[in-house]
Amino acid sequence: MSILVKGGLIVTQNWKREVVKGDVLIEGDKISAVGHVKARPEEVVDATGCIVMPGLINCHTHVAMALMRSVADDVKLDKFLDRTFAIDAKRTPEDVEIGAMLGCLEMARSGTTTFLDIYYDEDRIANAVEKVGLRGYLGWTVLDEKFTTQKGKPIRNCESFIRGHKNSDLVKPIVSVQGVYVCSGETWLAARELAKKENTFCHYHVSETRNEVYEHVKKSGKRPVEYLSDLGFLAKGDVAAHGVWLTINEVRQLAKAGVSVAHCPVSNMKLASGGVAPVPEMFAEGMNVCLGTDGCSSNNTLDMFSEMKFASLMHKAQRWDAAVLPAQRCLDMATVDAAKAIGADKVLGSIETGRKADIVILDCNRASMTPTRPESAVANIVYASPSHAVRDTIVDGQFVLRAGKMVNVDEPATLDAASRAADALLARAR
Ligand SMILES: [Zn+2]
Repeated sequence: MSILVKGGLIVTQNWKREVVKGDVLIEGDKISAVGHVKARPEEVVDATGCIVMPGLINCHTHVAMALMRSVADDVKLDKFLDRTFAIDAKRTPEDVEIGAMLGCLEMARSGTTTFLDIYYDEDRIANAVEKVGLRGYLGWTVLDEKFTTQKGKPIRNCESFIRGHKNSDLVKPIVSVQGVYVCSGETWLAARELAKKENTFCHYHVSETRNEVYEHVKKSGKRPVEYLSDLGFLAKGDVAAHGVWLTINEVRQLAKAGVSVAHCPVSNMKLASGGVAPVPEMFAEGMNVCLGTDGCSSNNTLDMFSEMKFASLMHKAQRWDAAVLPAQRCLDMATVDAAKAIGADKVLGSIETGRKADIVILDCNRASMTPTRPESAVANIVYASPSHAVRDTIVDGQFVLRAGKMVNVDEPATLDAASRAADALLARAR
């Protein structure tokens, strides 16, 4: 199949960060030409008045928790955790799948084409990913057996999930580790060994709250990153989520090890766990930083456009510096830097010849996106309201959302099923 996306304003995210008026030719699952393209494609898609941009990459979420949207808001962290754990304990594999369907729908509609997930029952999440047609880097959570409701050993569950999904185009199985509060040194090292053996990477929570850090210091005498460094766990190509309560020494340890941090500004602010991730210091130390929404119980959306905006505003407000995290850098964190974080920098994150065709088309012929000029396109993407303007979402050269309509799934039926499952789940958790 060949598709010519014609006459759009292309925010390429190439190394020059060029924004050009022109066409994008998609052949099969790849981008085969960008610019003024002369071709005879099977299909021409008119992108006049539209921004054509790379699909966004959400580097930290728990997609199935879309079913738990707005179940514990405006309460202290301990109450939030009590409430979400109580509901989570009652969820079934069917709840996980319909929750993941809901989350994938929301992402497709808000310009996200790839996400990085930590949860249980990732086999059910993989089903949702393939049904909707997104790209999922899915990690089955590894933690100490005594802390889990999983059936069987978490590390073995993770291993068999990886083995079962090795040859999928859209599902990339990875190793997820919950965090220092529920993982022994042995568990961390077993996760590392599995990742090495399966030639993949680890994704884990680290230093999200001050309490996590203090408790870990009490228990081990070390801060979480120092502990993981001394343990010999830190490795190039991993993605650590949050990284809020880091010392400069820990930032350096992560940067030196080649670990990317998935910054989650909305979740961190909303849970009022205090503190702001030291992102400017991470940049100064040469660390690769990407963005994540975290789950819907703490965000309450998977919209990466709003995550970019919040990231920028959070640091501007905290540092009294309007230039500290510019729009271009935020877009980088959600595209090229995110692709780098997940080891896909030659494949995803930009609109360039040879890359996978993961493309989002924003219809800017609307009040909230007018005017859109080449020089203001990136600012509009980050600071205006683009999620409402997402017209088409293409993943792996296939339309997932076309002219505002979901292609592979019956959207009203899915939303109805998700609503009913969410109500039933809440009733069971009462
Ligand atoms: Zn999380």
